[in-house]
Amino acid sequence: MDLTQSVNDYSEIVENDREFIWHHLSQHKKYETQDPLIIIEGKGLRVWNQAGREHLDAVSGGVWTVNVGYGRETIADAVRDQLVKMNYFAGSAGSIPGATFANQLISKMPGMSRVYYSNSGSEANEKAYKIVRQISHNKHGGKKSKILYRERDYHGTTITALSSCGQGERRDQYGPFTPGFVEVPHCLEYRSQWGDIEDYGIKAANAIEEVILREGADTVGGLILEPITAGGGVIEPPKGYWDRVQEICAKYDILLIIDEVVCGMGRTGTWFGYQHYGVKPDMVTMAKGVASGYAAISCTVTTEAVFNEFKADPDDPMSYFRDISTFGGCAAGPAAALENMRILEDENLLENTVTIGEYLMEKLHGLKAKHQIIGDVRGKGLFCGAELVSDRESKMPVDESIAQAVVADCFANNAVIIGMTNRSLRGMNNTLCLSPALISTKSDMDEVIDAIDGALTRVVAQ
Ligand code: PLP
Repeated sequence: MDLTQSVNDYSEIVENDREFIWHHLSQHKKYETQDPLIIIEGKGLRVWNQAGREHLDAVSGGVWTVNVGYGRETIADAVRDQLVKMNYFAGSAGSIPGATFANQLISKMPGMSRVYYSNSGSEANEKAYKIVRQISHNKHGGKKSKILYRERDYHGTTITALSSCGQGERRDQYGPFTPGFVEVPHCLEYRSQWGDIEDYGIKAANAIEEVILREGADTVGGLILEPITAGGGVIEPPKGYWDRVQEICAKYDILLIIDEVVCGMGRTGTWFGYQHYGVKPDMVTMAKGVASGYAAISCTVTTEAVFNEFKADPDDPMSYFRDISTFGGCAAGPAAALENMRILEDENLLENTVTIGEYLMEKLHGLKAKHQIIGDVRGKGLFCGAELVSDRESKMPVDESIAQAVVADCFANNAVIIGMTNRSLRGMNNTLCLSPALISTKSDMDEVIDAIDGALTRVVAQ
C-alpha cells in the first residue's frame, strides 16, 4: 500500500493524541519522550502507522479481534447499507440483521438456542452473571448465587467482571469487588500445582469440586471458564479436564458459562473453542471476532432451558430478564457480524486456521529447539503462546522486562507486532502471544517467526 501522506501531515493528529487521549493499558510517561503510535490504515494482515511504516500485525488488532483481517469493504458496505435503512431501535424490538445473524449463529452451536445482544465481552459476561443470579432468586430462594471463576482467566474490565478475574495485575487496586465470586485453581500443566502427576486434567477439574464442597454446593450456581485461557498465558486445559468439569456441573446443578470472547469465531479452527472438547455449555459469551472489530457487538447465547427459566411465571411481573443494553439494539453490529460470518465460510478460514495454525506451531517448536529461553509452547489454531523462562529446569519465568524487550525488538527491527500475556501471578508476565488474522499464509508466519528468532537472539545476547 502506498501511503501518500508523510509523517508531517499527521503531526497535528499526533499532538492532539498526545494532548487529549488517555490510552488504554498505557503508562503515559513514555509519551514525554516518544510519539504515540497511531494506526492510519490496514489491509489484510498489515497496518500502516503515522510515519508510513508498514507492520505485520500478528495479534489481530492487538487483542485477538480482527479475525477476517483489515480493509474488508464488503463489511463496511453491509454496515453502511444497514445504517441508512435502519440504524437503531432498542433491543426490546428486533431488526433484520439481528434476527438473521442469531439464526446463523445458532446453526453453528448445536444445543444452544437464544441470543442476547450487547456491546462488549465484559457486558456479555455480566449478562450471564445476571442470568445466574436471577435463576438463583427465582428457583433457589436466593441460594446458588455464587459464581466460580478460574485463576488466570479474564472475563472483562467492569468491577463485576473483575470480581471474576484470575489475574492479579488486572484486579489490584480496584476493589472492593462484587461479592459472591470464588476462584478455582488454574489448569496449566506446565506449572502444575501438584507436581508431576498422571491425570493432571482430572486432578485440576477435581480441584473445582473441592471448592464447590468447601463453599457448599447449595450456594454455587455458576462456573465461568475460558475454553483456552487467553491473556492469562494461552492455556489449553489438559486431557480429561473438560469431561470431568461437565460431570461436576451436572452433579451439583451448576450452570456452565463458556467465555468465547477470544476463542469464538474460528480463532482455534472450530467455530467455538469448546467444540474441540465435546462440552455442552448452558451459556456461551462472545465478542471480539464476532464482527472482527468492524462494529461493536457481543452475544450471550443460552440454551432453551436457561431461557425458559425466564418465562416460568406469567403472573409474576418480575419474572422476565430485566436487563437492557442501549447499544445492544444498534443494527450495525449484527450487520457486520453477518458479513463477517459469510467471509469466514466462503473463504474457508476455519480450515485455513487449522492448516496455518499447525504450521505456526511446528515453527514455534523449532524456535524452542533453538532457544533455551523458550520453556513451553502451547496453543490451538491461530492462537499460540511461547512461555519464556530463565532456566528450563527450574522453569523460573524470565523477568517481565525480557518479554517486553522481545516484543519491542520484533516491532522495531522487523516491524512485526506480537503480544504478551498479562501478569496473572506476580512476575509471570512471560508468555509471548501470537494470534494473527485467520487469513494468514505460511509466508506471513515465516516473517513472524524470523522476527521472533532474531529478537530472542538479540535480547538473550544483551
Ligand atoms: N473475556 C475474555 C476471555 C477476554 O480476553 C476479554 C478481553 O480481552 C473479555 C472477556 C472482555 O472483553 P471486552 O474488552 O470486550 O469487554
